[in-house]
Amino acid sequence: MNTQSAAAFLEDRPTLWPNRAAEKVLPAEVDECLFSAHQCTFSAREQAVLQADQAVTLARGFTEPSVLARTLYQAATIMRRARRPDRAFVLCLEAQPLLERLDERWRASCVVLLRGDCYVDVGEHERALELINEAAERFVNLDDRAQLGRCTTAMAKAYMLGGDLRKAVDHAVKSLALLDDHTGSLPLRHQLKNNEAYLRFMLGRQLAEAGHGPLAQDEYARAVQALPDLNQIDAQRWDTNGAGVLDTAIAVYIAAGDLARAQDAMKRLAGWARRWNSPVEKGLAWLRLADFRVMQGAPHQAIACARRAAGYLDTLPLEANRVTAQLLLARLLEETGDLKAAYEAHCEASEVEARQQKESIAMRAELLTLDLEAEQELRKTAQTLAYAQRLSNVGHMVASINHELNQPMSSIKMLAETTIELLNMGDRQEALANIELMHRLSSRLVDLTSKLAAFPAQSVGQQQPRVNVKHAVSEALAILRSRLARTPCEIVQDLAEVDVQATEGQLVRVLANLLNNALDAMEGGDKRQIVIAASVEPQQLVLRLSDSGPGIPDSVRERLFQPFFSTKAAGQGLGLGLALSRDVMREMNGDLTAGNDPHGGAVFCVTLPLAENQ
Ligand code: ADP
Repeated sequence: MNTQSAAAFLEDRPTLWPNRAAEKVLPAEVDECLFSAHQCTFSAREQAVLQADQAVTLARGFTEPSVLARTLYQAATIMRRARRPDRAFVLCLEAQPLLERLDERWRASCVVLLRGDCYVDVGEHERALELINEAAERFVNLDDRAQLGRCTTAMAKAYMLGGDLRKAVDHAVKSLALLDDHTGSLPLRHQLKNNEAYLRFMLGRQLAEAGHGPLAQDEYARAVQALPDLNQIDAQRWDTNGAGVLDTAIAVYIAAGDLARAQDAMKRLAGWARRWNSPVEKGLAWLRLADFRVMQGAPHQAIACARRAAGYLDTLPLEANRVTAQLLLARLLEETGDLKAAYEAHCEASEVEARQQKESIAMRAELLTLDLEAEQELRKTAQTLAYAQRLSNVGHMVASINHELNQPMSSIKMLAETTIELLNMGDRQEALANIELMHRLSSRLVDLTSKLAAFPAQSVGQQQPRVNVKHAVSEALAILRSRLARTPCEIVQDLAEVDVQATEGQLVRVLANLLNNALDAMEGGDKRQIVIAASVEPQQLVLRLSDSGPGIPDSVRERLFQPFFSTKAAGQGLGLGLALSRDVMREMNGDLTAGNDPHGGAVFCVTLPLAENQ
């Protein structure tokens, strides 16, 4: 791809990429194929469809799954622009689960919106609204106002389809309000403004038809206000909305009686259609010129223009202007007294309309069937995945528990057997030592089973009004006394005399678990130090436990609080401590967070509400 075309293509890409994975560039041959499809969406729509298909075929040859997912999405966009919403929809249905699996949430949400747009194209506004609303919710979560603006404008179109023009106009206005000075590219702004102007124009027409002339004129005036600045529409630049804006402008200016500006917009549209060699836009330009000639009182010229418009718009599926052109032609022929030709034109208009309706109903049915199948498939997959996930968790848990319990139990069994022999032999001393060892091992078992009993949720029990923090810390250290005696570690305490609202037993267990983890992390290290510092904030106490261990790597940090996540050797860690501790802290209206100290080592922060009347 040459640099100029690549730059043009990039300009058409969304400016905001909240998902970093989306920035990856597609392989050159796929990108090039998409680019040429993109370029001929106006001039040779069939060709565009073929090229988009080819890009997808090429993408299937790459093992990296994101290549296919992203190509499918781009190809779908092109198909829709080439007036093949049915083809676009099929690609969307394949792209979406792939993107979800890759966690490319932004693009997956764009696909949902695109599916909604396809429904709008085929005139199915209810399902369209469902999908557009789903996309909007996703973009709220992703905090993407530009895309939210796109969704709102798509909703406006769906409401128009449903016959509620007032609601449609309201949504069009809302969509613009979503963009502040820093959000949205110029083409997007044009698209949204154009939508508002168009819907106001349609509302005006409805009012005029209902005999509310002055109200209709007010609406037309508002439509003029809403139009984007036509000087900013550059026919040389790749702007997919350019022709639409110019077309609306002509209709709006004619309705508002501003023929000079209508003529100016018409020239621009003709220039645009020539530049991109687009039959639809050429047809539109001729159709608007026909309207204009009617306004000027030149019916014969208008007839010639309407004929040319109908010719250009001939072959396209779902092109409503084709029928409009044909009906205008029939009306003009009738008015000029050529009744035979008028009759023929009328027949043709009905024929085209019937054909288009048939096409749109067939597409609508196809989309709905595909959608239903996909939803069922998706639900099945989601259920299977959740089930598989649960099974794998259970499997993991069983393996870990098995290991944890088995090891001390077989030791106890062995010790018991030797103790019996020792007692038979009268070696009381050795027997006592064995019994002590068995006691320690069984304590470990009790500890483990009590941890398991606490999973997944443990009732915190009666919250005590005040627990003294210094006391809780010393209790936790007392639990670890024997370990600390074995592996000395410097414990630095900087604790204030503060009381918190908590359940003492639970807080002590959480602290003991954190201290134990810190000791594990520092094992084998030269310097062993744990600093326990408390700071009092207006409403809460923050207790920081820092250690001089290696700290927590990023890859571990993401999964730290996941149940059963452990980096410790099998048999040494169940990976439940932190998950349970955080649950417990949250149940006590506090929290547990983890990080690293800039000077090294891990830092765990425990927060708790202060007891009253400190
Ligand atoms: P377990 O201790 O059974 O592995 P935890 O949930 O208590 O389960 O801890 C999960 C993981 O968090 C540990 O395996 C370890 O990788 C990491 N971790 C916990 N505390 C620290 C610490 N102080 N320093 C470094 N890593 C830690």
